[in-house]
Amino acid sequence: MEEKDFPDDSADEERIGRKNRRDTLVVTAVFLALVVAAFLGVKLFNPGYSREPYRRVEFVLDDYVTITVYGKDQSRVEEAVDAAFRELFRIQDIADRYRSESELAGVNREAASGPVRVSDELWEMLETGMEIYRASGGAFDITVGPLVDLWDVVGRGEKGEPPPSEEEIARAREAVGADKLELDAAARTVRFAHPGMVIDVGGLAKGYALDRAAGVLRSRGMTSGYVSMISTDLTMGEKPSAAGGPLWRIAVLDPRGEGYLATFLLTAECYVSTSGDYQRYFEYRGVRYHHILDPRTGYPARGAISVTVVGGRDGAWSDGLSTAAFVKGYPEGLQWLQAAQGVECLMVDASGVVHTTPGLHSLLEELKERAGS
Ligand code: ADP
Ligand code: MG
Repeated sequence: MEEKDFPDDSADEERIGRKNRRDTLVVTAVFLALVVAAFLGVKLFNPGYSREPYRRVEFVLDDYVTITVYGKDQSRVEEAVDAAFRELFRIQDIADRYRSESELAGVNREAASGPVRVSDELWEMLETGMEIYRASGGAFDITVGPLVDLWDVVGRGEKGEPPPSEEEIARAREAVGADKLELDAAARTVRFAHPGMVIDVGGLAKGYALDRAAGVLRSRGMTSGYVSMISTDLTMGEKPSAAGGPLWRIAVLDPRGEGYLATFLLTAECYVSTSGDYQRYFEYRGVRYHHILDPRTGYPARGAISVTVVGGRDGAWSDGLSTAAFVKGYPEGLQWLQAAQGVECLMVDASGVVHTTPGLHSLLEELKERAGS
């Protein structure tokens, strides 16, 4: 997702001006003048927040993370953003299983031999993962690691290799299944009941890290900002009126075309998560194979090409819900999000048609009806 600045205020005033010329009623002109004066008054009354935010981008958890903060004191803002990134790198050291020295890599090496005690942070991610596993009927499964490794969509794409064989997929699936994960809540330990199991928290770790970073920003007095982990974002507080607030304008990419599929106008503390088949995939003989796998079949999920969830109780939950709904596909995933999870959703089905939950409309600024058109 991307945060888009509002068009320049002068453009708004020009539009108001044009309307004025068409309108001959003096009373309307006076009314508009009062509205403009009030608008300018609000802007002048908010001198603390700069119109231009402080923004920094770093590569964390395999994606570009952008932190945007509107603040009063530049050096305090910079220190807060520094600390938020330090926290993100700390979570990466815990949850990025591709780093051999990470905590999760250690768990994956050792948990088949016996219970392994984990940190509070990893425990929270595993617990949320198990909750979404149960809530989604197994569509979301943090033990999907053996399948992710077998499919290795980026590697196969680079080498031009075909998809794995049915036998390889069947073999990998034997080591997949969160029901084979033994979690001891009192001892905070994890054990694998089957050899070859691999935990992969890629479906929710960014959302989890997002909340940790936002917590650091808040604890340092930052009240207005936007944290974007590309696929999971959070609006923090209101956007300053001097910068076109109070709403945040968030754009979702078109999964098949150039530009945007939708733009939202969102209030404070709103999570937006997208899962799609268009960022990590390879193509072989005209078929696309992407990185979100259906643990129940062993193949990339086919029921949707993108899912955006707006809402959710926290970052990990919002991130995990979009992955789970993507696996469920259209219409099941959309209905599940609306009825059982109480979040709003924008889903592009396998043929490119856009579907929404009814409550999404009040948040939309613009929407294409079909992806790629
Ligand atoms: P992104 O990686 O773009 O944030 P998602 O949040 O949808 O996208 O997460 C996709 C990642 O989740 C995959 O790269 C993989 O690590 C993991 N994953 C793939 N399939 C599943 C699944 N069925 N359940 C849980 N996690 C999955
Ligand atoms: Mg996700």
